Amino acid sequence: MDRIVRAASGQYVDGGWREPARSKRLSVRDPSSGSEVGSVVAATPSDVQAAVQAAARAFPGWAALSPDERGEPLRRAHALVLERADHLARALTLEGGKPLEEAKGEVLWGAEFLLWYAEEARRPWGEILASSGPGQRLYVRRRPRGVIACITPWNFPSSLVARKVAPAVAGGNTVVLKPAEQTPLSAVLLFEIFHEAGFPPGVVNLVCGDPEPIGAVLTSSPDVRQISFTGSVEVGKLLLRRCADSVKKVTLELGGHAPFVVFADADLELAADKLAFSKFQNAGQTCIAANRVLVERGVSGEVGRLLAERAAEVRVGDGLEPGVTVGPLIDGAALGRVREHVADAVSRGGRLLCGGSEPPGLDPERFFGPTVLTGVPPDARVATEETFGPVAPLIAFSSEEEAVELANASEYGLAAYLFTRDLGRAHRVGEALDYGMVAVNDGALGWVQAPFGGIKGSGDGREGGRQGLEEYLDVQYLSVNFD
Ligand code: NAD
Repeated sequence: MDRIVRAASGQYVDGGWREPARSKRLSVRDPSSGSEVGSVVAATPSDVQAAVQAAARAFPGWAALSPDERGEPLRRAHALVLERADHLARALTLEGGKPLEEAKGEVLWGAEFLLWYAEEARRPWGEILASSGPGQRLYVRRRPRGVIACITPWNFPSSLVARKVAPAVAGGNTVVLKPAEQTPLSAVLLFEIFHEAGFPPGVVNLVCGDPEPIGAVLTSSPDVRQISFTGSVEVGKLLLRRCADSVKKVTLELGGHAPFVVFADADLELAADKLAFSKFQNAGQTCIAANRVLVERGVSGEVGRLLAERAAEVRVGDGLEPGVTVGPLIDGAALGRVREHVADAVSRGGRLLCGGSEPPGLDPERFFGPTVLTGVPPDARVATEETFGPVAPLIAFSSEEEAVELANASEYGLAAYLFTRDLGRAHRVGEALDYGMVAVNDGALGWVQAPFGGIKGSGDGREGGRQGLEEYLDVQYLSVNFD
């Protein structure tokens, strides 16, 4: 089976692919095997400058188009992604590791943002305020901001590109995107589609390569008006500090530490199904993955058993192999952290119900089996730090108040889950959770029409829905005196 995506330029600037003559290439590796599946050219600071300048030149013309005109290339891009979904999914599996079916789901989910924002371009709502005197009108309008630098992580290398680019350009902005160095090929394939979809030169630009020099140009350039970042808390804080001098708007979609709260009155089978999805999707490497499973004391044994049953049904392996439902972890560092979290939980009294190592026959440097731990103390690393692996630690609670207190005892505030059949409790606890998103009796949150994003240490950005467009628009208030 052909396991090569290809060597790509990686620099799409001013409407064309650039390949500087003496350039460093960055290898892209399959996390299942470590073999090279492609490469891209590493952008130099002057390549990044050129991309920013192209975006700045394109901005006035693009912003002046009607929303319908701006929606057209997005609609064409949506159709092209659907046409090429299998190819895009395969590339995603090869560079990111997630199983093929899951990769295709991601590609199609990303396509939804292209179509949604093609339409949403028509709805940058304004307001007319009460006048303060006769012959006066006070208007609030939303207008595009300018050049937006988008930085995306490796764990959703296709959909998060679409989820940033689509609202930014729909709102009349132009974009320079930097994908994660581990997974640039999905972005390259999407930019090929953007090219065919007919975006005017300079509206969408791509630069790949080492994060530090690219980030240095993007955060210091006076032409860049906003950084839209998805990734770790650490890098998010660094970018925020670096943007202070040029007072850029910084939108942060950072990590999470989702509590998954199960009350004794819940449908436990449903909770276990949703928990298995939330925990094992992308091998637990999602920002909204359940990281702490808080279970009411009387049912914690039953929830542990039900989850372990589901873990036993998971097949770990190479994402291209039919039947595999959990792929490798992205790299050795990720695997090391997962092992450390499990060892730490066990050393503090946690007990393994299943997993705890690589499944038989698989490379211990790349794979980790679905793991369920019970009796984990709330101060264990797995209960306080983002694990980013297929590990579910169960922590027991005795009352609604204790559940809320434990759930909120985190610097993060991205997603939380709550399972109960009591309608009053669903509202009470749902509203008391300090999280940007709360799912009640469900394990998924990333709907295209809903504002995805966090509070506290998880950042302040919103992607999806009306709020996703507003992130890229400035508010202008216009006072008109016509007396
Ligand atoms: P990361 O912070 O290491 O990298 C994210 C991006 O930032 C990559 O493109 C990387 O190259 C770039 N980067 C790193 N250093 C940089 C620098 N100095 N200047 C400019 N860019 C720099 O994160 P990751 O490991 O790729 O992704 C995993 C993290 O992302 C997790 O914490 C996860 O929870 C989070 N995440 C959040 C969301 C969300 O919507 N809130 C979604 C997906 C992932």
